Amino acid sequence: MTDQIADAPQIIRMRHELRRRNLRVAASERLSPHMIRLTLQGADMHDFNSGAPDDHMKLILNAESDSPQMRDYTPRRFSTSELVVDVVDHPGGPAADWARAAAVGDAITIGGPRGSQRIEGAIDQWLLIGDETALPAIGRWIEEMPAATRVTSIVGVPDAADEQSLDTAADWTAHWLHRPLDQATDPAPYLAALGGMTLPPRTFVWIAAEAMVARAIRTHLLDKGHDKQWIKASGYWVAGQADASDKGIED
Ligand SMILES: Cc1cc2nc3c(=O)[nH]c(=O)nc-3n(C[C@H](O)[C@H](O)[C@H](O)COP(=O)(O)OP(=O)(O)OC[C@H]3O[C@@H](n4cnc5c(N)ncnc54)[C@H](O)[C@@H]3O)c2cc1C
Repeated sequence: MTDQIADAPQIIRMRHELRRRNLRVAASERLSPHMIRLTLQGADMHDFNSGAPDDHMKLILNAESDSPQMRDYTPRRFSTSELVVDVVDHPGGPAADWARAAAVGDAITIGGPRGSQRIEGAIDQWLLIGDETALPAIGRWIEEMPAATRVTSIVGVPDAADEQSLDTAADWTAHWLHRPLDQATDPAPYLAALGGMTLPPRTFVWIAAEAMVARAIRTHLLDKGHDKQWIKASGYWVAGQADASDKGIED
């Protein structure tokens, strides 16, 4: 476990101009049983910027109506004309409903990302832990890592068909945990996976999952002696609450 190390990694914050972009659905694909991949396109993408894999932007649903709804999603991949978003197909929720029904040509507005947080420092290896909502960030991160970067992922998904293969130059070890979507609020599989694992010093741990799960994983690692400056944890959704998250879990 990491003892107190003086030169802990730094979170470097970048701001981006916050504006709305009007895009259209160019493709909709069932990436896996519980993941819908949407490719969005539009001229508004020309100056889109996302500086870190765990960035988020808002999908703005019914943007022109009196009651638009916004939900956080990860820019999984982007270019000056295109944005790829991976949406978990979970029951109940306007964003998941929208993604299920999205058809080529449909309009969608996005907002942000407002900023990016890059984690920089003398990190020997990474441990990325999360559920299916974190998989877009984890996938992007692992794909963007420089050659030979050591990274381990622990990702909870409903079953083997929801696992993803990633094209990466990194030295990647994947652990997939299988549990039904309606058990995504149970931290036990993650804690069991971590139980048999030794974290060498200078391992940076990134966690994103349902808020109680993310908090339980962080507490488990702190109890094992991992330095909190080497952990970043977020609740990407909150069980039983719409439009809720807990970004930046602390003590
Ligand atoms: C920084 C950040 C990045 C994110 N990136 C992504 C991403 O790339 N892809 C992605 O799919 N999600 C991502 N999420 C999570 C996503 O924002 C939430 O799951 C969101 O609540 C979905 O909106 P909704 O309209 O479908 O459901 P809501 O209206 O928000 O919620 C309706 C009900 O569904 C429940 N619920 C919400 N999400 C889930 C879920 N995944 N499984 C089971 N029940 C759920 C809620 O607890 C609530 O009871 C991210 C969240 C954050 C904070």
